[in-house]
Amino acid sequence: MATLEIKLWWGKPTFFMTIINGKTKLLGVIGDPIGHTLSPLMHNAAIDALGLNYVYLPLPIAPENLATAIAGLSAIDLQGFSVTIPHKLAIIPLLSQITEKARLVGAVNTVWRTETGWQGTNTDVDGFLAPLKSLDKDWSRVNPVILGNGGAARAGVVACAQLGCGEIHVVGRNQKKLDPFKESWANTSLYDLLEVHGWDELERLLCTTELLINSTPIGMSPQGEQSPVELELLDLLPPSAIAYDLIYNPRPTKFLRLAQTRGIRIIDGLEMLVNQGAIALEIWLGQPVPVSVMREALLKQF
Ligand code: NAP
Repeated sequence: MATLEIKLWWGKPTFFMTIINGKTKLLGVIGDPIGHTLSPLMHNAAIDALGLNYVYLPLPIAPENLATAIAGLSAIDLQGFSVTIPHKLAIIPLLSQITEKARLVGAVNTVWRTETGWQGTNTDVDGFLAPLKSLDKDWSRVNPVILGNGGAARAGVVACAQLGCGEIHVVGRNQKKLDPFKESWANTSLYDLLEVHGWDELERLLCTTELLINSTPIGMSPQGEQSPVELELLDLLPPSAIAYDLIYNPRPTKFLRLAQTRGIRIIDGLEMLVNQGAIALEIWLGQPVPVSVMREALLKQF
């Protein structure tokens, strides 16, 4: 174990920090830009709590350097890495295999070493599910409405299908993107569950949905005073509905604050963020990780 214990003046040990030495194993996150990432914070907090000789680093990699960089990460014996924008699709041809979950989502956010090369998966699906799984709901009767049709919406669709939802409705602003979104699942069991709609159909959909998910960036800091759905539309939701915003900054978003005023149960994006990270770290370390330490590290940041 290679940790440094920092003591504050009143003598209470409060902070442990990994000492990097010749045996430190490397993990990281690739993206461009990468300066905003919160992943090193939560991963290194968990690594420190476990007392392991690992370090998780931000790795800025421009799109044109991706293939060279991945070969280089193999050469320096990096153990695994997270993948963020804009590499989640482009990484796929550079991997030796991907999981069924990553294939369904169409994107990879977690990569690890195997004997035959890099393997990738998508932990956003299980991260998305984490705050829902403990709820006492008959999911087969819940027909979720997902606002937005980007990457997070794709993870949401796969997750809702995994929950057993009978129908999944995706609402987007651009029909030219919505049709290919649906078609991308043409040869899978998800295809028949999924319906895509323009925003003009939202009012009708809200009356019958028990789960309304915001997967657009509307309301994300610094545009914290925006909401994808205004109060009068939220009034249409059944009282037992859940409003789930994938945004984690601000906490809560305006969308969730409005829903709360109507007595609607709310969930924000923090649990998805923490859990997708924890699942990835478990894959790399091959052992359970302290999810509460990761959550705490993020909460301190907010
Ligand atoms: P993305 O791929 O860029 O997709 C965003 C979607 O929102 C697109 O369909 C886009 O429509 C739509 N959209 C954007 N602005 C809109 C507007 N003003 N009106 C209507 N629709 C709008 O982004 P993403 O990766 O899916 O992320 C979406 C959100 O989820 C972000 O806020 C992100 O922080 C959050 N997220 C959270 C987690 C977590 O762990 N909690 C994980 C992933 C993402 P067009 O396609 O027409 O542009």
